Amino acid sequence: MKAIVKTKTGPGVEILDVAKPEIREADILVKVQAASLCGSDLHIYEGTPGYEYLPLPVILGHEFAGEVVEIGRRVQGLAIGDRVTANPTMPCGQCDWCKVGKGGRCRSGFSLGLTGNGAFAEYVVLKAGGDIFKIPDNVSLECASLCEPLSIVLNGVDVSQFQGGQPVVVLGPGPIGLLAVQVLKASGAGPIILTGTTADARRLEIARQLGADIIVNVQEEDPVKAVIRHTGRVNFVFEATGISATIAQGLAMLNPGGKLMVIGIHAEDAVFNPLDLVRKRKSIIGVYGYNQNTWKRSLSLLSTGAINPEPMITHRIPFSKGEEGFMLAHDKTAAKVIFVPEEQ
Ligand SMILES: [Zn+2]
Ligand SMILES: [Zn+2]
Repeated sequence: MKAIVKTKTGPGVEILDVAKPEIREADILVKVQAASLCGSDLHIYEGTPGYEYLPLPVILGHEFAGEVVEIGRRVQGLAIGDRVTANPTMPCGQCDWCKVGKGGRCRSGFSLGLTGNGAFAEYVVLKAGGDIFKIPDNVSLECASLCEPLSIVLNGVDVSQFQGGQPVVVLGPGPIGLLAVQVLKASGAGPIILTGTTADARRLEIARQLGADIIVNVQEEDPVKAVIRHTGRVNFVFEATGISATIAQGLAMLNPGGKLMVIGIHAEDAVFNPLDLVRKRKSIIGVYGYNQNTWKRSLSLLSTGAINPEPMITHRIPFSKGEEGFMLAHDKTAAKVIFVPEEQ
């Protein structure tokens, strides 16, 4: 089968023909119908620091949906033909966090497409003990493949304790930023200010469709001044750029006591004045991951139509042309790239 594989450190990925995986008695085999390219996959492709722990070679991909085609003897509750998506992380069950029921913070769990082979391939093996979710009939496999980033955003909004009926700023129109716009819109935020650059033109256009009220091009206008001019300072800023300069900018956009929620994955140190945290009691809160309940809510939000990420899916690329997908995401032509099987 074709697979998108990280074979060596530094930039790039390779498209390889690899053997179709075999399952053990507690595994299921899923035929991947849609696998979505994540910002972290892009970082790995670009060779950004922070992913040295990957055991190379490894098949990438952790956002996916597909159909169950084989089931191990000891697996219960799933049937051939089920449409599923899954939490790509699997806690170890042994470490101090796992033992107190906080598997989301596990120190050594398995992570699909990072610590082991993932879903950028025609087939992926899932351990039946993990969080595997059946997809409601009215949710497309492509949209379901976005459950993972959607769950990250839902968790971020949960942790922020955001309450609707007020303006909010989202920094960055990548997939996480675009999903944040939708989740915040559904939570009653308004107006929503979204920042981006000239290269983000297409993503910013999609953002408008998804509910962003005010778009700020940071190359044309100072983003802090723009926020103050449009709405005044805000109580919540959601950072989804991974660019270190946005930390100080985000803080400057906040009212005293406001929260800067950091969702972006940063490779560089950020410079900011801690007085903002002290005298102005602002906080910088990092959010990462999700729990089983976040996933269930993601699927219901997709099923009720409260969240419809369809406009974000700008490209469908077969696994065999994987590199093309990474290039489209790298130059920001794409909002969300979905890898699909060859026959489509
Ligand atoms: Zn992801
Ligand atoms: Zn653990």
